[in-house]
Amino acid sequence: MKISTNVKKMQPSSTLAAMQKAQALKAEGKDVIDLSVGEPDFDTPQFIKDAAWEAIQSGKTKYTATSGVKILQDAIVGFYEREFNKSYKPSEIMATSGGKQAISNAVATLCEAGDEVLIAAPYWVSFPEMIAFTGAKAVVIDTEETEFVLTAEQVRRAITPKTKLIILNSPSNPSGRVIPADEFRKIIEVCAENNVYVISDECYLLFVYPPNEVFSVASLSDELRQFVCIAGSFSKTYAMTGWRVGYTIAPETWTKAMLKLQSHTTSHPASFAQYACATALDNVEQSRKSVKEMLAEYERRRNWFLPALNEIGLVSAMPEGAFYAFPNVKKFANTSAEFSDRLLNETYCVTTDGAGFGSEGYIRISYATSMERLKEAIERIKGII
Ligand code: GLU
Repeated sequence: MKISTNVKKMQPSSTLAAMQKAQALKAEGKDVIDLSVGEPDFDTPQFIKDAAWEAIQSGKTKYTATSGVKILQDAIVGFYEREFNKSYKPSEIMATSGGKQAISNAVATLCEAGDEVLIAAPYWVSFPEMIAFTGAKAVVIDTEETEFVLTAEQVRRAITPKTKLIILNSPSNPSGRVIPADEFRKIIEVCAENNVYVISDECYLLFVYPPNEVFSVASLSDELRQFVCIAGSFSKTYAMTGWRVGYTIAPETWTKAMLKLQSHTTSHPASFAQYACATALDNVEQSRKSVKEMLAEYERRRNWFLPALNEIGLVSAMPEGAFYAFPNVKKFANTSAEFSDRLLNETYCVTTDGAGFGSEGYIRISYATSMERLKEAIERIKGII
């Protein structure tokens, strides 16, 4: 069988590969500490599960519109009105099968051979692959010098006449760093001045630790928003990774193109999952409570885990959001893959090699696991370095 060149060139997702490695070892009975995949260790809140069950029981089990059910679009409109005081039209919104499909729809509808797409390293592993698949070229902005916080100046320097798009992600997967609101605005202004479109991957939108503030590109002026597609997700915010529901919010022309594309691929996310997501957003009090509780727990872990990592020599910039540490491991091994493998083989701690995120010399550690396991991980790692 001759596999297509486009797919042959592609690397498998290293985040999912690390997760599967951890699952396989667990199945063998090994005492694995899974610090690999970015997945909340909380269960989906009960009121959201109940809503899905109710949707199934009442026969909401058939095809929906490609854009998603109206009640979900309205709930998304309501969320942005409430949180950011911005009104969107349902025609600017579509439901997708997870944040991943939101981003890939947005990339695929704009990019083609000859285009350049900017991404800031460390980037999420799927960005370069989604770009390459369209024939466009990923141009990487290295942010090591600014401790992984992208600046408008770095973006300005990277733009060429071929630049079509930039993908932004704050809070960042894999570094957890947050671009301050003022800098974020400046980045979008630089992009708009140069006719560069923007995908803002806001999968970790609400997971920002105080005193840092939640920022969405939704809060920008209407003029700037003409250049922007928000890629949102329910996966992290409401601990719903397996439900596979995300969404895009983009200007109508862009949305129409994405709808056309999605109508030939996945059609729409599962009907009952969409109803459950609408409930997650509409049930304001309960969803705020769940997010607040999860955020407080992630913050408690971060406040203990990051200093503990630094103390054993795995030095990482302090993440302001999400649930990842991204320590420098250059002094421990020749490559980050080698160090990650050592951790796996000698401690059964599963981490993700930084090279897949475009930052050789670093590893990603997800602290979306219990305090007890984090403490155990530190003890085990300390024992081998
Ligand atoms: N976003 C999560 C991660 O980076 C999920 C895995 C994936 O889809 O890449 O670990």
